[in-house]
Amino acid sequence: MENSRLLALVKSMGIRKIDDLFDELTVGKLVATDVVDRLKAIYIEKLRKQEEKTSPMRLAEPLVLLSHPPVGIASDLGIVQRNGKPLRRKVELMTCCTPVFGDSIIGIDNRAKHRVEIHHVECSSVSAGIEDDLIDVDWQKRDDSALHYPSSIYVVALNRVGLLFDVLGELSELGVNLAGGNLSLKPSITQEDQVAEFELVVEVLDVTQLDDVINSISGVNDVIRVGRAFHCIKTLD
Ligand SMILES: [Zn+2]
Repeated sequence: MENSRLLALVKSMGIRKIDDLFDELTVGKLVATDVVDRLKAIYIEKLRKQEEKTSPMRLAEPLVLLSHPPVGIASDLGIVQRNGKPLRRKVELMTCCTPVFGDSIIGIDNRAKHRVEIHHVECSSVSAGIEDDLIDVDWQKRDDSALHYPSSIYVVALNRVGLLFDVLGELSELGVNLAGGNLSLKPSITQEDQVAEFELVVEVLDVTQLDDVINSISGVNDVIRVGRAFHCIKTLD
C-alpha cells in the first residue's frame, strides 16, 4: 500500500502517524485485525458508493421460484376493488414485482388467461400495459391474517464464508420463511474480494414485515445493498 494511503487509513483510526501505528501494534494497544476491519469498512463504503451510482440490479438468470406464484379467487388472496367492493375474479400476484399486503397495487385484466394480474404500481409491466386493461384494486381490510405473501429481495455483499448463513439467521430471528432464491456470485481471479449477489423469496405478512427483513439484512456484516427485486419477466406457464 502507498504511504499516503496508509497514512490516510492511520488517521481515520485516530492515530497521528504511521510510526505510531507500528508502536501501538508492538505494545499490543492495537491488534492487526483492527487494521483489517478498518480497511474492510473503507472498502465496503467504496463499493456502496459505486453501487449507488448504478441502477437497480438485474440478475442474468431469472428468479427461481420454489413455490408457485399465488393464484386464486381475489377474496382468498385479500384483493378487492379500489372502492372496497368484492372483485369476483381469479387473480394472480405477479412474480415480476411480488406485491405484498400494504403495497400500492393495480390490476391488469389478462383476458387470455381469464384472470387479473396484480402488480405493484411501480412495476414496468404496468406502464407497458394497455390503459383499458387496468383495474383499480386494493387490499381487503383485515384485523389479523395468516396469509403470507412471497416477495423477492436482492442482496449484494462481500462474499465470505458464512454470509448466507448470517442472512438466513436474520430471517429465522424474524420468524420469516424462505420460499426460494437464486444465487449468483461474481468470482474474480484478479481481485481478492468477491461480490456476492443473490435473491431470496421471503414469505411476509405485509410490507412492514418486508421492511423489517430488508433492515435486518442490511445490518449483517459485509452486506452492501439490500432491496426489493423488480423483474420484467412474465411467469412461465
Ligand atoms: Zn409486476
